[in-house]
Amino acid sequence: MSLRRPVFIFLFFAFLTVSFPREAFPDGERDFFSFERFFLNQGLVDRIPADGRTQTDINIFAANLTDGLYAFSSGRWEEAKAFFLKARGVWPEYFGTDFLLALVYEKEGDHGTAARYYKSYLNKLKDFHSGRYRISGPIIRSLSASGVEAYPAARQLIEQRLAGYGMDLDRVRPVITPPGFLMPLTVVLILGAGYAFAHFRLLPYLRMQHRIKNPPEGFWVCRNCGRANPDLDKECERCRRPRH
Ligand SMILES: [Zn+2]
Repeated sequence: MSLRRPVFIFLFFAFLTVSFPREAFPDGERDFFSFERFFLNQGLVDRIPADGRTQTDINIFAANLTDGLYAFSSGRWEEAKAFFLKARGVWPEYFGTDFLLALVYEKEGDHGTAARYYKSYLNKLKDFHSGRYRISGPIIRSLSASGVEAYPAARQLIEQRLAGYGMDLDRVRPVITPPGFLMPLTVVLILGAGYAFAHFRLLPYLRMQHRIKNPPEGFWVCRNCGRANPDLDKECERCRRPRH
C-alpha cells in the first residue's frame, strides 16, 4: 500500500516525459500554428481611406484575409483558400497569407503543398526582417495585431513540424509568388514583344515566302533579297546570288 503511491507518481511522470517530449516552446508552438494570430488590427483597417490605388488594394487585401479567417474558423477550407489566394494576389509581400494557406492545406491533409507555402512564408518573413520591404514592411508591422514573429523561432518550429511529416525544410521548393502589380506590366511587355516579332519579323517572312512561291509571270523571286528577276537571268540582279 505504501509502495503504490510512489510507483503511481513515478509512472505519471514517466508518462508525461514520453507523451510530451521536451521542446523549446511547447506553448509557443500551439500559438504559432494558430490562425487567430493573423487577425488584422481592425481599428487601423477601418481608418484606411478607400481612395487612391494603394489604399484600395490594402482594403481589398484586408477584406479577403478577414473573410478567409472566418471561413477557416468554421472549417470551410475551400472557401478560406479562395479568400487567402485573392489576398495573396493583391499583396504578395504579406507573409501571413502564405502561412494561412499552409495551415489550410495541412487541414486538408496535403502536407506537400502545405510545406511549400510554409517555405514561401519563411522566405518572405526573412525578407521582411532584412528590411527588403521598404514600403510594405511598416504597413505589415502596424496591421499585425499580434506583432510580427522572429524568423529563427518561426523557422525552427516549421522545421520540426515538417520533420514530423518526414520532410526536410531545406529540400522544399517554395510556392511561386506572382510579382503583384508588376504582373500586368510583364504581360504587356510579353504581348508587346510578341506583336513586335509578328510585325517586324514574321509577317515580312511570310510575305517573302508567298512571293517566292507565286512569282510574277516570267519572273523568279530571289530567296535572299526578294527581288523579282526575269526567268532568263541565272543570277539575282540585286544581290548576285545564283538562281536556286
Ligand atoms: Zn537577290
